[in-house]
Amino acid sequence: MQDATKHFINGQWVNSIDGRETAVENPSTEERIATITLGGVADVEMAVTAAKDAFPSWAATNPSERIAALERLMEVYKTRAGDMAQAISIEMGAPIALAKTAQVGAGAGHLKNTIRAAKTFVFESPLGDHAPGDIILYEPVGVCALITPWNWPMNQVMLKVAPALAAGCTMILKPSELSPLSSILLAEMIDEADFPPGTFNLVNGDGANVGAHLTSHEDVDMVSFTGSTRAGVAITKSAADTVKRVSLELGGKGANIIFADADEKVITRGVRHCFNNSGQSCNAPTRMLVERTIYDQAVETARAVAEKTEVGPADIEGRHIGPVVSEVQFNKIQFLIKRGMDEGAKLIAGGLGRPDGLSRGYFVRPTIFADVTQDMTIWTEEIFGPVLCITPFDCEEEAITLANDTSYGLTNYVQTSNKARARRVARQLRSGMVEMNGKFSGAGSPFGGIKQSGNGREGGAWGLEEFLEVKAVSDWG
Ligand code: NAD
Repeated sequence: MQDATKHFINGQWVNSIDGRETAVENPSTEERIATITLGGVADVEMAVTAAKDAFPSWAATNPSERIAALERLMEVYKTRAGDMAQAISIEMGAPIALAKTAQVGAGAGHLKNTIRAAKTFVFESPLGDHAPGDIILYEPVGVCALITPWNWPMNQVMLKVAPALAAGCTMILKPSELSPLSSILLAEMIDEADFPPGTFNLVNGDGANVGAHLTSHEDVDMVSFTGSTRAGVAITKSAADTVKRVSLELGGKGANIIFADADEKVITRGVRHCFNNSGQSCNAPTRMLVERTIYDQAVETARAVAEKTEVGPADIEGRHIGPVVSEVQFNKIQFLIKRGMDEGAKLIAGGLGRPDGLSRGYFVRPTIFADVTQDMTIWTEEIFGPVLCITPFDCEEEAITLANDTSYGLTNYVQTSNKARARRVARQLRSGMVEMNGKFSGAGSPFGGIKQSGNGREGGAWGLEEFLEVKAVSDWG
């Protein structure tokens, strides 16, 4: 891999002009694995200028040329999938098996779905028979700042980079400073796939400097952000003075509503889903709501699943969960577990401290709280670790009220064999997505939230539209 201290600007790997070096840590060992440069204002200026200069010619390309370039990228991505899995696993702690499958696979999947959506997308269409000669053009937004988190690095990066490229935008990617290695590798792949210089630029850095400068820059037309609600609010304010488009994919506190007539595997599935990627997923089903008639049994099953969940280093093969990403995250999770205990939630598995036998690395005990009530901090706050909250309900109406009792609105889950009820509940849930009976949303389905989970929709045709402006033209022909 490239010298990680460099940025990728205008088709070249360049030294930082005004950045400062920082370590990238392996969360399984707490050891330094690489050094990157947190860029400065001059680095951002250089990248924005490159993207701005590259925009007119890239925007003018035919969609089929851009699709062909993305297909070349797909080939390179496939051949270097092993390197990508290693990079993700070592930088953010996903066990290598998970990195090779879901983590790397998410990037490939989004690239593939974007290509498919772009092939059928109608970039020009008549307004209608009532207005002869009027045409609607879909045109690229312009220079985009893409700012991403660390938890599913290639998932989030590809959900932005692929549709931005397909739309004809040029861009500056600023990945999380905790997981920059996968994006450095992607920049190498984009270079190899032969995109025009300046189309894609990578500047490593933190939110306070590179992030803030990108989001307030007058030559940046759009910010596409995935990360915490806190940063999403700051970015929205920073972008306001230049009236940019701001697309936000933020946090979540998903409810998993389990009715007594759901299938028998539902509790095990719900716990595993919550713990997947060490609980570091914005759409994790972290509040399990269980119909009271099966509540006690559900709590017992959940305890057994948590106790069987193995925790270990990311480089070991297996279906265990890895560490959480950093000391900051580890401490935040410990704080919230302590809060749960202090506020009277019933701790039925896990708890404070590291799992037995692990004295180094940011490993968290798979933790379950039962009898969690709406006044508790763990009910309200996104924990972002392997911590599940369980709460009973008595009727459908109460389940819906509990599920909607959150400032977030990303994904909710419904488990019941009663189809009419499933649909009734899905309609009343205040979230951008509802997944029912263990069935994941299909490829190219729109991913995004409402309320404080954000306003963006990524994936497939919806993801492409995020990066397009609508232009109305009369008397076209
Ligand atoms: P974070 O908000 O701390 O950081 C995300 C990115 O934003 C990083 O690149 C960071 O450097 C940058 N950043 C931070 N402050 C900034 C600022 N003021 N201006 C510009 N950039 C700034 O989030 P994180 O800890 O990396 O990721 C975890 C969060 O991401 C969780 O809340 C999770 O729910 C959310 N998330 C949401 C989705 C989704 O699609 N809705 C997906 C994954 C993660």
